[in-house]
Amino acid sequence: MSPISQLPTSEELVRRADQAAGACGVDLASWRGEHAVGSPINGATLHSLPWATAADVDDVVERARTAFRVWRTVPAPARGALVQRFGRLLEEHEDDLAALISLEVGKITSEARGEVQEMIDICDFAVGLSRQLYGRTMPSERPGHRLMETWHPLGVVGVISAFNFPSAVWSWNTAIALVCGDTVVWKPSELAPLTAAASAALLQRAIGEVGAPADVSQLLIGAPDVGEALVDHTGVALVSATGSTRMGRAVGPRVANRFGRSILELGGNNAAVVAPSADLGLVARGVVFAAAGTAGQRCTTLRRVIAHRSVVDEVVESLSDAYGRLPIGDPMAEGTLVGPLIHGRALGAMTAALDAATDQGGTVVAGGARVLEEQAADAYYVQPAVVRMEQQTEIVTQETFAPILYVLPYDTLEEAIAINNAVPQGLSSSIFTGDQAEAEVFLGPEGSDCGIVNVNIGTSGAEIGGAFGGEKETGGGRESGSDSWHAYMRRATNTVNYSGELPLAQGVDFSV
Ligand code: NAD
Repeated sequence: MSPISQLPTSEELVRRADQAAGACGVDLASWRGEHAVGSPINGATLHSLPWATAADVDDVVERARTAFRVWRTVPAPARGALVQRFGRLLEEHEDDLAALISLEVGKITSEARGEVQEMIDICDFAVGLSRQLYGRTMPSERPGHRLMETWHPLGVVGVISAFNFPSAVWSWNTAIALVCGDTVVWKPSELAPLTAAASAALLQRAIGEVGAPADVSQLLIGAPDVGEALVDHTGVALVSATGSTRMGRAVGPRVANRFGRSILELGGNNAAVVAPSADLGLVARGVVFAAAGTAGQRCTTLRRVIAHRSVVDEVVESLSDAYGRLPIGDPMAEGTLVGPLIHGRALGAMTAALDAATDQGGTVVAGGARVLEEQAADAYYVQPAVVRMEQQTEIVTQETFAPILYVLPYDTLEEAIAINNAVPQGLSSSIFTGDQAEAEVFLGPEGSDCGIVNVNIGTSGAEIGGAFGGEKETGGGRESGSDSWHAYMRRATNTVNYSGELPLAQGVDFSV
């Protein structure tokens, strides 16, 4: 049985929320409305806020467009100075923002701090990038001509974000968009508005200090219909939407229909292959963090272990043992590793998935039960579950956003790769192996079809330096590091003729 902690009182949670928001520059006492902000820690209402409506979107986008006309003319390294200042403010307020993340979405303190650290990291990355928005020069086929590509600011970027990374995903987009010369309108998850308001307030402070136009960053707290209005607005050049595949299926065609650009970061159903040569100690540690961390509520959460038949029993045994020792409870208490699910619907989805898995031939070998109900009826804590399956049935191919880990056997590497790839999603994957040739096959063109492919490490916990995103129903978008910035800029191909003649390309003769 997992160790379980006491939950804090509602008064304590409200006090912490007021204090953390206030420290970031959000005065909750003078900002009240009719929409309750809940905490998954014990079901308490932390505050009540007003929401924007779809009717507000026109005005906000217009202001973002006006700010864009100024911001695009500011030299990129000077734009970087804004992001640099924002990064330093995030460092100063790391604990405050982390507290709000824990209070609103139930992340344990270490992971909430990790989310803020990721925001600081992307700011540092973007500051460097502000001096490296390189174009290419290529040889022209015509004498006395220069051929080159230049990159220019794109316009207004609409950011729609999910509850489980309530601030980091916005910062990935915003830090890059700002140095690229774009302005940003953010529609955060309606489940984490205080984290959003505090993050946006810190950026506003940086904007004021460096003298940038106030409207380069704007916030629209509201329901999905506000997101829809942003998606449909022709003044929004790029929509970067992170959330469920259901949301992406609605957003993608609407943006495409008006010839806008989109970056879609959607659901995952991530797997780790465990080969016979794998270091099983490493597997247990890597798998438990990837599968049970954030209570199974990361897009990169490990949902399937595909273990070689010769080691599958041992893998199941060591995971069951580790799962039995996971401390569950108050995410802000020291030592807790598993916090709450976000809401009762998530618990319902988990219960239904476990029932379906059992119906489809699976056996729940660890966890799966609800805990702490007697302390807080409106909070949803569960023991992360391990389910042994003989094959990949229908339920295993779905993303259930809760801590369920299916363990499946395989006989050949080819079969393991086929199982890894036989799901609609394509976000993250890994292989644990001591055999380099096997690792190379998994990484290669006949290997995993995911956007993230790892060796001897779990599927979650990506660094900001690489491009982040996935294939198939994960949406195909890429954010964060590497060359992802290209999506936030407009490319122009330029031909400069300094020859005094007018030779045409491909030798075309058009003399009159
Ligand atoms: P969700 O799809 O319910 O909501 C995400 C956001 O989209 C919210 O801000 C919501 O208000 C908005 N929204 C919903 N419907 C919309 C519509 N029709 N038009 C415009 N906006 C709309 O997702 P969630 O429950 O907050 O987050 C969990 C999901 O997000 C999981 O599927 C997870 O895998 C995914 N996720 C993906 C990534 C990634 O990078 N691939 C990262 C984090 C989360």
